[in-house]
Amino acid sequence: MSFTIQNVLIPTSEGYQTVNVQIQNDRILAVTSPCAQGSAPNLEVIGTAIDGTHKLLLPGFVNAHTHSSEMWQRGMIPPVPLELWLAELYEFAPLDPEQAYLSAVGTAIETLMTGGTSVVDHLVLIPGKEIETIAAANRGYREVGIRAFIAPLIQDEVMSAGLPTGGDEVSHGSYDRSTKETLNLVQEAVEQFHRPDEGVEILVAPTGIQLCSDALFEGCIELSDRYNLSRHAHLLETKAQKLLADEKYGCSAVQHLKDIGWLSEKTSLAHCVWLDEHDIKILAETRSTVVHNPLSNLRLGSGIAPILKYRQAGVNVAFGCDGSASNDSQDLLEAVKIGSILHSVTDPDYQHWITPRQSVEMAALGGATGLNRADQFGSLEVGKKADLVMYDLKSLSLLPRTDPIGLLVLGRPVNVVSHAWVNGKQVIADHEICNINVNDLKEKLFDQSEWTPKRKSIAVSETEARYRSVMGLSGNSIGYS
Ligand SMILES: [Zn+2]
Repeated sequence: MSFTIQNVLIPTSEGYQTVNVQIQNDRILAVTSPCAQGSAPNLEVIGTAIDGTHKLLLPGFVNAHTHSSEMWQRGMIPPVPLELWLAELYEFAPLDPEQAYLSAVGTAIETLMTGGTSVVDHLVLIPGKEIETIAAANRGYREVGIRAFIAPLIQDEVMSAGLPTGGDEVSHGSYDRSTKETLNLVQEAVEQFHRPDEGVEILVAPTGIQLCSDALFEGCIELSDRYNLSRHAHLLETKAQKLLADEKYGCSAVQHLKDIGWLSEKTSLAHCVWLDEHDIKILAETRSTVVHNPLSNLRLGSGIAPILKYRQAGVNVAFGCDGSASNDSQDLLEAVKIGSILHSVTDPDYQHWITPRQSVEMAALGGATGLNRADQFGSLEVGKKADLVMYDLKSLSLLPRTDPIGLLVLGRPVNVVSHAWVNGKQVIADHEICNINVNDLKEKLFDQSEWTPKRKSIAVSETEARYRSVMGLSGNSIGYS
């Protein structure tokens, strides 16, 4: 399979340039060299010709952290902090692998339609149906054709262990699956579903220090080394997690993760809101990646991650939407916009602020780097995978003609992706998803859900008093709604 995109605009260091791009099989074969002003680019057409006139071609972005099955609860959970939000989320989590399939398809489609060609799904596993959950997501991603990094979310401690004790004696039950069994599960997932050449990878992905033992992290490191798997986890998303880390390790969580060997150029860490200067140095030294989820951090009141400090320290940063119940969408362009301009209020020196071109590079190459796959995709370079997105510069939200990337990042782009390819295979044509019947998906999502604006969570009322106490919040827990 080969094709040639003709007369398409691409960014250059000088501005923009109109080129032809040849794709052969799964890779970029050639891009026309600069041509004299006014003359058409001349590169032989191979395979099908695609008209790129009045379109902008960019490398596909990476939705570098999400949880697909949260789609079933989006718009539902009231504005509360992560620890209470999680209690409600898990109480009502979907239990049918068919739902995991549908929400993976929905997540893939929303990611693709907003410039993404890869998704990192920190996938919540249905208890007792763990492999079926992974199989369902795998099927969904393959059908849509997005590049998928499925990161089965694992832990080996019970939910209540995720809150700091504040010095009180608190005892927790034991988790319902042993550390060894959990690691075996990940290994089974790798053997069944890890197929990098086909665009599906399995990651080792303990949820984070708040619910995982060192033994679980170490087992994941061993699997990561043995199978060359990327590593993923949440890190210091909330102040409560920072307090917990101090209690648990007597040092910073980042220092501890470095000491046990978790941090590396294969490691991406979601959120990273509560890190200090010393932690930031460690991330830079170990070449770990921060995945910035600005909308989730705002939605849950987690804080503003010090993204400008990461960038100045040389830490790689990627963008994620986070799950659809803490965002509550998978609009990657929205995450890129908010995740870029939010930080201008954190530093008066505007020379540190993130420019639209830097945002695009973080979203594409930053994402690939965080997966240790920057040699494979993330930029428009000959030899790299053809994970490409074409934006329609005649869409109303990208008009009038100013600076295409400036408007794409700072504007409010609506339905601007006209074409996209993953691994050289077309996934969007003329603004439509190619490989899945979207109307069919919409019908199923509608039929399998119901309006429930007034549900009550028992788990939240059980957790709330302790949360308020350890976080020093005065007043009683009165429930919320
Ligand atoms: Zn998350």
